[in-house]
Amino acid sequence: MSDSCVFCRIAAGTIPASIVAENDHALAFRDLHPQAPVHVLVIPRRHVASLAAADRPDELGALLALAAAVAKTAGLEESGYRVVTNIGEDGGQTVHHLHLHVLGGRPMAWPPG
Ligand code: AMP
Ligand code: ZN
Repeated sequence: MSDSCVFCRIAAGTIPASIVAENDHALAFRDLHPQAPVHVLVIPRRHVASLAAADRPDELGALLALAAAVAKTAGLEESGYRVVTNIGEDGGQTVHHLHLHVLGGRPMAWPPG
């Protein structure tokens, strides 16, 4: 837990978030600035700076499983959706606590900008 990390504070319950799902390792909540009709973030409960710092396959599996469960609950399975994680400066990462973006409800462009 890092007091200066906004996602650690959400995981600890000290700042509010619209939580949609959780499991032992991970928490899913709505993005504050949604970029699609469905835009949910999936984070590990403990502080991990990015995918580049991830060192626990069980935790990564739990993140992916929760992302898929969130998409299913949101009714995105048939239409499809996107799961993305940004890493570092060129990846466009702004919050330095690992998170998966689950985006859906509209067609996604490729390649991303
Ligand atoms: P990234 O640019 O990949 O690091 O994504 C960070 C995401 O976190 C952005 O989409 C922000 O809108 C989102 N975000 C930042 N602060 C909060 C917050 N307090 N609650 C929910 N989402 C947030
Ligand atoms: Zn953190």
